[in-house]
Amino acid sequence: MSQNLSAWSGVLACPLDHYTLIQNPDGALVCSHCGFFPPLIENKGRQVLDFRAEGTPQTVSVSFTLPIAPLDRYQLAQTHFRAPAAARASSTSQVKLKTKLDAGCQYYLRQLLAEHGADVPILDLGCGSGDNTRFLREIGFRNILPVDWSAVGAEILVDAHRLPLKDRSFRIVVSTAVFEHLYNPFVAMAEISRVLDDQGCFLGGASFWEAWHGSSYFHLTPDAWNVLLNQNALYLNDLWAGWGIVPAAISHVLTPGHFRRLGYGIQGLIERVYRLWGGEMAVRKFQLRASGSYMVYATRHQ
Ligand SMILES: [Zn+2]
Repeated sequence: MSQNLSAWSGVLACPLDHYTLIQNPDGALVCSHCGFFPPLIENKGRQVLDFRAEGTPQTVSVSFTLPIAPLDRYQLAQTHFRAPAAARASSTSQVKLKTKLDAGCQYYLRQLLAEHGADVPILDLGCGSGDNTRFLREIGFRNILPVDWSAVGAEILVDAHRLPLKDRSFRIVVSTAVFEHLYNPFVAMAEISRVLDDQGCFLGGASFWEAWHGSSYFHLTPDAWNVLLNQNALYLNDLWAGWGIVPAAISHVLTPGHFRRLGYGIQGLIERVYRLWGGEMAVRKFQLRASGSYMVYATRHQ
């Protein structure tokens, strides 16, 4: 086990049944219940433990309460979108850090740091090359576990539908641009809720547009986020638009791979027109009609 990973040995569990992993005399981890063991594999030039249990079938159950009341779009425009507004108000005093995280996510992460402290355990789910983990470290968080299906930044390889982590072992789960790539968002959100503790919160977002980018399946609407969270003991505390519909349409549909910055420019221009015409509410209603992505901040309780 790497030095980084041994710090997390207390939260690791069997991905199939969540039983404790015990260490063999030779140092290898093995499930105390079913005998599962994560093989050490070479992943993009790095030796990592593979907890995905690829090829091992598993039955999971998901419970629903129906019907679920849909969100009221106009009410949402009034009560949510707090993150970008707060980020605009506080951005002048902050050091700019290089990150793909949008201003709303950056705002909440700084708030969470102040509220929960630097040592709370954070799961960076679908960490990719490690951009989110780098940002979290730069602002001061010290306990971040980056995991991914296969990306280079991962400390361990995991399947988001069966996390190899103990119940209530994390305070914060961060997951951006991941959910649209999952086969079953309900199962994955149930797993996130399971590993979050009683004060746990989820910060993330998914593509709403971009029908083809990598392999992607469920591109989430605001209502989809609300249902996913609501069915898993989490509350949609805030929601806002990530990147706009115009850059998404230009750089993914009209001229794939090009003119993204031009798209941002036009999006900004359209939003300015809406703002002049109908104020912040008009901008939000425009962003709720369609967006490149929607971002959410969710907490255990209202
Ligand atoms: Zn097991």
